[in-house]
Amino acid sequence: MARIRQPLPVVESTEQVECRRCGVVCQKVVHPSRCLEQSCPFLYAYEAFGRTYVGCTQEIFAADIDLDILRRSTRRRNGFGGVRAVREPLAVCPVEVERAYENREDPMGCVNPEFHELPGDRRSIRVISER
Ligand code: SF4
Ligand code: SF4
Repeated sequence: MARIRQPLPVVESTEQVECRRCGVVCQKVVHPSRCLEQSCPFLYAYEAFGRTYVGCTQEIFAADIDLDILRRSTRRRNGFGGVRAVREPLAVCPVEVERAYENREDPMGCVNPEFHELPGDRRSIRVISER
């Protein structure tokens, strides 16, 4: 009997970019306007329909953004804002954690504080031996 080979759908873990371990919902977001300001080498651009779109080759965020709109919105007070991260951000990424439903926070506080450690915050550990 012939067998049909199909790739199995892979469910990617969202644990690195989203936490729902308590009533609050925490999500990592990146700021594409700052990717542009810091001339990140992982930005790509292409032209389509007479417009230029930019995105991230590392797929930290999944959206392709209209460059003109991105540039114009960065001149406004609230800027372009954050875009949901879909992969663990790199140390170079302008990332922060946004919290929703903060009123649902457990009286004991956050049960997953490591989630708030951002890649750029991580320092190496120095071990000192005293003899
Ligand atoms: S790698 Fe990070 S800093 Fe660079 S474009 Fe992607 S999200 Fe922005
Ligand atoms: S407050 Fe802490 S435990 Fe609750 S969702 Fe956010 S990171 Fe997770």
